[in-house]
Amino acid sequence: MELAELMTLRPLPGAGLLLTVTGRCPLHCAHCSTSATMASGEPDAGQLRSFVGTFTPEQHPSVLMMTGGEPLLRPELVASLATSARTAGTRTALLTGAFFAGRADRPGQAAAVPERIWRAVTSVDHFSVSLDAFHERETGRAPVFALVRRVLDAGIATSFHLVGAGTDDPYLADVTADIRRTFGDRVPMLVNSLRRVGRAASWATADTALPDPERALPCSMAAWPVVAADGTVVACCNQDVVDRRPAPAHLTLGHIGTDGWPAIRTRVLGSPVLRMIRTVGPANLQHRYGAAGAAGARRGYCEGCRAFGDDPAVLAAATAAGGGPAGALLDRYAARGQAEAGAVALVRRHGCAPYADLVALPGAER
Ligand code: SF4
Ligand code: SF4
Repeated sequence: MELAELMTLRPLPGAGLLLTVTGRCPLHCAHCSTSATMASGEPDAGQLRSFVGTFTPEQHPSVLMMTGGEPLLRPELVASLATSARTAGTRTALLTGAFFAGRADRPGQAAAVPERIWRAVTSVDHFSVSLDAFHERETGRAPVFALVRRVLDAGIATSFHLVGAGTDDPYLADVTADIRRTFGDRVPMLVNSLRRVGRAASWATADTALPDPERALPCSMAAWPVVAADGTVVACCNQDVVDRRPAPAHLTLGHIGTDGWPAIRTRVLGSPVLRMIRTVGPANLQHRYGAAGAAGARRGYCEGCRAFGDDPAVLAAATAAGGGPAGALLDRYAARGQAEAGAVALVRRHGCAPYADLVALPGAER
């Protein structure tokens, strides 16, 4: 499964599930938005298995994206979740920091990949590695390239997830050119700007700048639920929503200890507020329905959305507008339009625009 196909599914409600396998990570990247350490929390393995076990051939996400922290700290769990998901018809993807690949202080020396980690890597349909200046200080670039080559040679679709300081960051120009030189056209790249880091948030996140509130600006990131490190299932990958508790009620979908996929999917698709966030976006909702002078009106895109609970008028109006068959129809229409626009258009909006073309392999659907 190639990266462009994954990204095309990103705006479709319930088409995917982002799953935090663990919040722990052995690396120490200075930019880590989750401040992940080896002491961070992680979901109960039994609850994760049970939750993925509720996928059925009739009701399952098309894609299960396993993230962290560092998911390959639990390689047996990754492999068993991938196997279980595949039984129901779900394809799987994995995003890693490749802590096992090598060390920056031993340049050029790729480490042998432990067998249990290799089994996990080869159990998924798409393998993605994070790379940026901070990761490179920990793992080096050459060992990560050696790992990606090995995964490619094993017949698994791979991609790089790159983060830079912004469109003009020379690091991005250098690393994207290096990947092209090394791998030709075989490996696509998803390029984001630094503020969008954090593994659960890393498959393109909502823009946090304050847009023109008169315009509808749908949030595609409210389409795939996220299992957080404490097992809570939230509606989007905004890092504050994923990490802070309590999560806003309108962005909370349940918990893997008590809910299965069918219930979560029903809530993703059926919530009138989520439908309106996906259809016109939070800034437009706030502008249309918020109390004059309400704090949310002065906040950024995601910040305003998270604060909807402070302005009951917005929630009440969104509930009325997004309920019933008309709300469902609008939601489907908005999602289909974004999916049909394709992966490059999605990344142009949510990622680092000048590098958006790199998300698709040459000749692939864009
Ligand atoms: S940015 Fe990613 S790889 Fe780096 S410390 Fe945080 S979770 Fe680990
Ligand atoms: S906080 Fe709201 S606007 Fe931001 S990604 Fe989540 S659902 Fe979308």
